[in-house]
Amino acid sequence: MQGIRYCPQCNAPLPASMLDGLCPACLLKRGAAADTAPAPGASPFTPPSVAELAKLFPQLEILSLIGQGGMGVVYKARQPAPGVDFAERFNREARARYREGSLCR
Ligand SMILES: [Zn+2]
Repeated sequence: MQGIRYCPQCNAPLPASMLDGLCPACLLKRGAAADTAPAPGASPFTPPSVAELAKLFPQLEILSLIGQGGMGVVYKARQPAPGVDFAERFNREARARYREGSLCR
């Protein structure tokens, strides 16, 4: 069994199984930073609802929207099999695909 890893930015302990070592607190902070706000005149992004997202990720239990910044949205979700909570961050590409509906099958 591997020991607990630590976030290189904030030193929070990270379970080895979580997000490949990505720190949810730092991801949220980055996503909500002021410098990630959309440019003036840019069309505002409306994040998908929990119900809409659940349809796109049937393997996950989407629990709630945690936060939103200019570059993305953070949701709290659970992967039912291992029972691990994690934050799913959606980047610009994922949002674009969501708009195009290409994640729907
Ligand atoms: Zn961190």
